[in-house]
Amino acid sequence: MKGMYDLHTHTIHSDGEMLPIELIRRMAVIGYSVVAITDHADASNIEDIICKLLPVRNSAELFGVKLLCGVEITHVPPKEIATLAKRAKKNGADIVIVHGETPVEPVAPGTNHAACVCRDVDVLAHPGVLSVKDAALAAKNGIALEVTSRGGHNRTNGYIVQIAREAGCRIVVNSDAHAPHDLLDNQARFLVAKGGGLTDRECRDILGADSLKGIFG
Ligand SMILES: [Zn+2]
Ligand SMILES: [Zn+2]
Repeated sequence: MKGMYDLHTHTIHSDGEMLPIELIRRMAVIGYSVVAITDHADASNIEDIICKLLPVRNSAELFGVKLLCGVEITHVPPKEIATLAKRAKKNGADIVIVHGETPVEPVAPGTNHAACVCRDVDVLAHPGVLSVKDAALAAKNGIALEVTSRGGHNRTNGYIVQIAREAGCRIVVNSDAHAPHDLLDNQARFLVAKGGGLTDRECRDILGADSLKGIFG
């Protein structure tokens, strides 16, 4: 898998602006080879989102993109996160991300912890000031921590890089794109990664779609 990846994007199936295939087409043109579509999900829509997305896998392939069908479990009570993550995987989700405790939204305390102990979760998005203990749990359960370009959510990128190194967590760099202007080209991704404090070497290891081998095919 050469090219770039993005494991966190939104479409009109939640609060994004593009149809799934428009998003995929635009990303194919920029040079992405792996894209996860992860619309906001709660108990009301988690199956719908996945069902709607599964048929787009073929269309994406025709544009040379491997589509990972996913959800972003968003603002649900921490107690329900494991059940919803399991429901998503049971219904065919390739990837489950959890909307972490970003500094700019009133995400329920305990959300980061609930994500870090759940083996059905793949990525903890914008985790804010994640505790050392939870970072260790994320490492143990193979959950990647997100460094994001999204304004507001990105305030704690430097902290996340530091704690991920300490705990041995995998880091992924995502856009959390909702609109065409949110999409990152190669240079912008490097800038986000380096701005978060990653070294050139770490950028090379983390930013390519190759780094996902064995995790998402
Ligand atoms: Zn959103
Ligand atoms: Zn998001």
